[in-house]
Amino acid sequence: MRGALGGPRVLLRRLREVMAEPVSAQDRLDKIVVLIAANMVAEVCSVYVLRVDQTLELYATEGLNRDAVHLTVMRVDEGLVGHVAREAESLALSDAHAHPEFSYRPETGEEVYNSFLGVPILRAGNTLGVLVVQNRARRTYTEEEIEALQTTAMVLAEMIASGELTALAKPGAEPAVRRPLHLKGVALADGLGLGHVVLHEPRIKVTNVIADDVVKETARLDAAIGKLRHSIDLMLEDDGLAKAGEHRDILEAYRMFAHDRGWMHKMREAVLSGLTAEGAVERVQSDTRARMMRASDPYLRERLHDLDDLANRLLRELTGRNRSSEREALPENAILVARNMSPAALLDYDRSRIRGLVLEEGGTTSHVTIVARALGIAAVGQVENAAGLADPGDPVIVDGQAGEVHLRPPGDVEEAYAEKVRFRARRQAQYAALRTRPSVTKDGVHIELHLNAGLLVDLPHVTETGAAGIGLFRTELQFMIASAFPRISEQLKLYRAVLDAAGERPVTFRTLDIGGDKVLPYMRTVEEENPALGWRAIRLGLDRPGLLRSQLRALLRAGAGRELRIMFPMVAAVEEFDRARAIVERELTHLRKHGHGLPEKVYIGAMVEVPSLLFQLDEILSRADFLSVGSNDLVQFLYAADRSNVRVADRFDPLSPPALRAFRLVAEAGQRHGKPVTLCGELASRPLEAVALAALGYRALSVSPASIGPVKAMMLELDVSAARKVLLPLLEDKSGMADPRAALAAFAKASGLPI
Ligand code: PEP
Ligand code: MG
Repeated sequence: MRGALGGPRVLLRRLREVMAEPVSAQDRLDKIVVLIAANMVAEVCSVYVLRVDQTLELYATEGLNRDAVHLTVMRVDEGLVGHVAREAESLALSDAHAHPEFSYRPETGEEVYNSFLGVPILRAGNTLGVLVVQNRARRTYTEEEIEALQTTAMVLAEMIASGELTALAKPGAEPAVRRPLHLKGVALADGLGLGHVVLHEPRIKVTNVIADDVVKETARLDAAIGKLRHSIDLMLEDDGLAKAGEHRDILEAYRMFAHDRGWMHKMREAVLSGLTAEGAVERVQSDTRARMMRASDPYLRERLHDLDDLANRLLRELTGRNRSSEREALPENAILVARNMSPAALLDYDRSRIRGLVLEEGGTTSHVTIVARALGIAAVGQVENAAGLADPGDPVIVDGQAGEVHLRPPGDVEEAYAEKVRFRARRQAQYAALRTRPSVTKDGVHIELHLNAGLLVDLPHVTETGAAGIGLFRTELQFMIASAFPRISEQLKLYRAVLDAAGERPVTFRTLDIGGDKVLPYMRTVEEENPALGWRAIRLGLDRPGLLRSQLRALLRAGAGRELRIMFPMVAAVEEFDRARAIVERELTHLRKHGHGLPEKVYIGAMVEVPSLLFQLDEILSRADFLSVGSNDLVQFLYAADRSNVRVADRFDPLSPPALRAFRLVAEAGQRHGKPVTLCGELASRPLEAVALAALGYRALSVSPASIGPVKAMMLELDVSAARKVLLPLLEDKSGMADPRAALAAFAKASGLPI
């Protein structure tokens, strides 16, 4: 390297010696800046550390006025150092004074230095500080020099992250690395969770970043890359793993990245600059994260996840660590933090230790959310970069009510939440006291509250909550968490267990609703451009009658000697219902012929979740024994807004006239035909929405287990006829300005409803 003494490798080796010396943190930093300045033939080398208050403090300098150390503090929107911190990108200038953001700090005496090279001190893509060298002469820093300084910054990042510098800080001005963060997301599952971070797919912690032998490290890197490529090829060849469309796409992307020359080149360069293979992978990934996290293009950000995952796989190859060995150390009060998680992965954890879940992705109706709710785990989704910001063991609070996460919370926040937890416990006790109270409104209207369920873990809720029954049993969840198609005997076992747990209470089983966002990893399906509008649910059931038939057989056998309720999802035309019912009849005949016990009575219903059915209500009601509105899908299709796409999912209010009119159509048609109509989408789980549904004429709702208490507490105080008087005129309003949500909220407030 031109101008440098001994090159970056010598510098790194010397740094390692300094890191091992038993000196104070300040002495160590002072030695480091002297070493860097000498090695890079620079008159100045300074370290600035980002503080909790988001300012940058000068922590050490060689060349500038030493009295300015710990006194010079800059905002991140100020000066060249601020620029580097903000953009998380290196900045090399031969004439620093000419840069529009140059700001002169007289106490440092830096006016005589013309050239400036600043690199961000990064960890997992987050800025922890800035490392700067300056020269009097106007000079151009080479790529190699920039690279060398970035590599050196990595050593400083570890030093800052270790907490060693905290002792040097004034109270309230500690390094930002461990700063409390208040992260906003989307509330997925109600509840409050206080505990410690467990990364679902932990980043491999790289402790040894400085290499002894560059040739050896290059060989290790190359060997690991070779293994990584091979393992991806194997996964792609393995039919079992690569069947599902999305999975295959991801693997294809991995393969492309794993052969990307730019990526390889950057890592090899980093090794040549003196890093171990692990250190090189981490450095390149940290730079990539920093760059991509600032990208606004959602496609690029999505690719960042792939690259993160790939880098982690590479680190696993290098360190020989695998996932299963990391699983063992689950602490008490674990809060899982992940980019995303499958329902099966969540169920894999020891439930008794999990207090909360934080996801970077995840939508309010996605399936991991449904499982979290079933398990009673507080969950927040859409928390940007959660897994990058959290470190294993960090204290964290998950507020599944407000959709917020407090990472490393300060004492007062922790106390406030402890109080909230006590308050909730008191409220839960109040709900528990309502368990046996019938759900009857103040004006004497009976509104049955049923449960939504789908897994064995849901069953204790039936008695715990005092629900009237299970209004929706999502049978596909058993299929989604399995690694192969559940056999008839397994299905039969689950359905029997459900009926046993429910006892006298009715259970409505919904037949398999797969397709769309409900993917079975082991099932070969056709690739579709619009899976939500594609081959799914009853459509798939009718085209593959073997699958539907075996499920119906298991259901009918499980229901022997009792009443059985079966409903079909995604019915779009009555003819589909007729065909599905014919399969039930055929199965009944088959069981009868073979001498099996039969249900006492079979009720067959349809879900109303495709808008076309709104215009065939009389036809479907003359055939079906009951209807259940699936508002999650009905709203998605009414507004053409993908329920799992956060950008559009909450764009339209289901408490606005179009959706409410649709819900009313179904309730009124049910009354005309004297057939029961339920609503089982997530909507009914929210008390204010439940007021609207009661006012529209719904007399049975199916809600998540945690919502039975709050919804019942509200119902007991509700005057349905008064709510009707508020709501129904708004549905006749033709101005386009009616705001039923606001009107209902005002009504609830005026009537003292617990909402
Ligand atoms: C619905 O669509 O509202 C519904 C209850 O079904 P799922 O959420 O399982 O699609
Ligand atoms: Mg649905």
